[in-house]
Amino acid sequence: MEKLIYLDNAATTKIYSDVLREMLPYFSKIYSNPSGIYEFSSKAREATELARSRIAKLINADADEIFFTSGGTEADNWALKCAAKANRKKGKHIVTTKIEHHAILNTCRSLENEGYEVTYLEVDKDGMVNPEHVMDVVKKGTIIISVMTANNEVGTIQNIAQIGRIARANNVLFHTDAVQAFGQIPIDVKKMNIDMLSASAHKLHGPKGVGCLYINKNVGIEPFMHGGSQEKKLRAGTLNVPGIVGFGKAADIALNEMDEKIKKETELRDYLINGMMENVPECTLNGHKTMRLPNNTNFCFKHIEGESLVIILDTMGICCSSGSACSAGSKNPSHVLVAMGQTDDDAHGALRLTLSENTTIEELDYTIAAVKKSVNGLRTMSS
Ligand code: PLP
Repeated sequence: MEKLIYLDNAATTKIYSDVLREMLPYFSKIYSNPSGIYEFSSKAREATELARSRIAKLINADADEIFFTSGGTEADNWALKCAAKANRKKGKHIVTTKIEHHAILNTCRSLENEGYEVTYLEVDKDGMVNPEHVMDVVKKGTIIISVMTANNEVGTIQNIAQIGRIARANNVLFHTDAVQAFGQIPIDVKKMNIDMLSASAHKLHGPKGVGCLYINKNVGIEPFMHGGSQEKKLRAGTLNVPGIVGFGKAADIALNEMDEKIKKETELRDYLINGMMENVPECTLNGHKTMRLPNNTNFCFKHIEGESLVIILDTMGICCSSGSACSAGSKNPSHVLVAMGQTDDDAHGALRLTLSENTTIEELDYTIAAVKKSVNGLRTMSS
């Protein structure tokens, strides 16, 4: 196979072989529907319940607070739309931030069309939400605060515990989109006062098309999918057993290996940041220097188009992205970088490189040299 340096782990990750191995029997030997009442079904049911408890353990939740979904997007839609509906008598005001993933932002837009009022909080130049600003905008009629745990483009980690305290003190539901943070950094839903949390298996070396919404026992929420009585009548549809099994195994590995993985990735991340800043002129780091995901780097290179850079790097065997995967292909600059105060021109020169614990120093050296050469080439062409 040709050279492949995969530095787009925020878009998706390679499934761990142990995860795949644990999933395989549920495609072939144990193909039963977990809702059946015969013995063969109970095997599939036991497997989904093991996964549920493994996932719960990772965030210090109880197993019966985990509800399986088709991924992070569904979990985000469910949390906001259905908690809003369940609380409409209390009020119609939702608080979120300008840097959320489109799964949250577009859900909020759809709620605005239905008459809800949404406040989009500003962030500072590092992409941090000031918890005091959350406090300032909460008012009578505020029903949900939704702030992402960590940003998918620049990796900035928010002060979730403090925002959770503010939400709880004001009797407002607190949701966090933890799709990028789940399994990467410690999260404790109890200590952080999180009422609802979205996660997705494919970001932590699990399969695509499966995720979950954690819903605190005390939270009343309406169903999103209507149909059968799966997931305590809150999320209808036959469970994706192999996917759920894989998600559970990935969560189990993440819990057992988190400390070591964070250490390894942080070293690699900082090596890449330092190498890039030292070798490529007019390069700046986007996102918080320390409060950032261990696997995230995001740079702006002046006077170039990030998309052109991604295409050139692709010819050199490097997979990366210029913004989030979802906005790649669009001509608009990243809404995250713009919210952080970047000009449109500077935001167009962004490059996101997200690694895994299996990334090597050799791969990073090759990438730094490739970026240096490509940025020089693009600047010469445009001058
Ligand atoms: N939220 C964030 C922060 C994400 O990064 C993503 C995916 O990139 C999603 C939500 C959507 O998750 P999924 O791909 O599982 O639908």
